[in-house]
Amino acid sequence: MVKKLSNLKVLVVEDSKVAIKSITNHLHEIGIEPMVAENGKDAVERYSAERPDIVLLDIILPDTNGYEVAKKIRRLQGKDDWTAIIFLSVMAKDEDLARGIEVGGDDYLLKPVGSVVLQAKVRAMHRLVQMQRALVKLAGQLHDANQELQRLSMTDGLTGIANRRMFDEALGREWRRCQRLKKPLSLVILDVDNFKQYNDRYGHQKGDDCLKLLATELARSAPRPSDLVARYGGEEFVMILGDTDEDGATWVANRICQRIAGLKLPHEVSSHAVVTVSCGISSVWPVREMNAEILLKSADSALYEAKKRGRNRVVYLEYGKS
Ligand code: GH3
Ligand code: MG
Ligand code: MG
Ligand code: MG
Repeated sequence: MVKKLSNLKVLVVEDSKVAIKSITNHLHEIGIEPMVAENGKDAVERYSAERPDIVLLDIILPDTNGYEVAKKIRRLQGKDDWTAIIFLSVMAKDEDLARGIEVGGDDYLLKPVGSVVLQAKVRAMHRLVQMQRALVKLAGQLHDANQELQRLSMTDGLTGIANRRMFDEALGREWRRCQRLKKPLSLVILDVDNFKQYNDRYGHQKGDDCLKLLATELARSAPRPSDLVARYGGEEFVMILGDTDEDGATWVANRICQRIAGLKLPHEVSSHAVVTVSCGISSVWPVREMNAEILLKSADSALYEAKKRGRNRVVYLEYGKS
């Protein structure tokens, strides 16, 4: 019994009525009702509209040749779909075959085409189409999975904001950008005050919830799209403020301190009675001889100073001071 391929969409591009009739008959025998185009222009239009699985493409057409049609089809083909092109011709020179493959054809049939060969080729191409499409789908899934993986590797699992890895990358990038544009760069390190006692008093779960809330608030407080807020680790966050000097960064950090205290998240054990943060800031006009690590160190020393001076406050230290 002949296996039917009724789901297969086949476009026959052929100007000879006799050839059309014979090819159509052969295809009928395997359950295919082909579409027919009798010239190149029509063929490209049908291809665009119908996206057939296989195109049987005559080389000599009234308005153009099959090679040009094949090129147009390949250009129209989206990255997610694929069509097999089989050239049909009475020409039998090796160069014709080679040219057909070069412009995007997949196989070649000599006319007049017998039913056994045509049907066998159509079956083979059907298999190829299926494999190719499965591959395209798989490649798409792989691409999506890679992007998701990339996103996850840069995201902090608890809070959903950037993690330290993303921060490290962004800092390098922002450093170079500010150096190139001769602009100041500021870093703010924020640390939750008395957070160990918060956990002890309310439990680790509530501690986690608190960190999530703070992360959301911080992300909201970043003034510009180029600013980055990341969880640096534990209950410490960090903010990169490009094109921002000492005054700008101090303004941003003070506002954050006020906003976080303003959330009035109860913290009975803290002297402020609510959750607060301390901020250390450092700024620099980056030049080649300097480096971002020293900036980070200075901001960290500034944070230490803020803790020492009573917490819930902002301290600035110059680049290189600690
Ligand atoms: P200080 O004001 O000096 O910063 O005091 P502190 O208690 O916040 O500082 P310390 O470094 O002693 O303690 C940090 C605490 O933060 C200890 C740790 O249990 C808690 N912590 C760190 N990461 C997490 C986390 O992911 N979830 C929760 N719930 N707690 C965390
Ligand atoms: Mg012809
Ligand atoms: Mg800490
Ligand atoms: Mg702390």
